[in-house]
Amino acid sequence: MSDSATAQERYLTAAIAAARKGRSEGGIPIGAALVSANGEILATGYNKRVQLGSAIRHGETDALENAGRLSAAVYAGSTMATTLSPCDMCTGAILLYKIPRVIVGENRTFYGGEDLLRSRGVEVVVADDDECVQIMTEFIAAEPELWNEDIGEPSTSGGPPRRAAKE
Ligand SMILES: [Zn+2]
Repeated sequence: MSDSATAQERYLTAAIAAARKGRSEGGIPIGAALVSANGEILATGYNKRVQLGSAIRHGETDALENAGRLSAAVYAGSTMATTLSPCDMCTGAILLYKIPRVIVGENRTFYGGEDLLRSRGVEVVVADDDECVQIMTEFIAAEPELWNEDIGEPSTSGGPPRRAAKE
């Protein structure tokens, strides 16, 4: 059974708040919320590329990490709400844990793995939320290089600063 539009809005609101927190820290404003079958927000997360120097902490993967170890049954009833269409990495994580439903804030600024998700039986709800579009549009205009880095696109100015690999 699908949640009401109001419930979906509440999940997306949590994801947007996470995205804004990330931006306020100087990061990439993409947030997510993992929600249980009964509508409890299990965890939120946001992109931490800048904050942690992380190559893998996207909104969705950060929410999964923050939720910690969960049983397959919990994932099987859950929903992932995310402010932006999930990239291939996050799409893979959603498929891995068999999360049956994804609420996408918007897919105008970036179109990720929605077709693959649908082909694998995941319900994808696109909210086409104006606030999500505005957050990404402003970010991409302000920091195009950082955005390209996050989605694995070539840089026009040499890419991220060289840094030692983590232990
Ligand atoms: Zn991602």
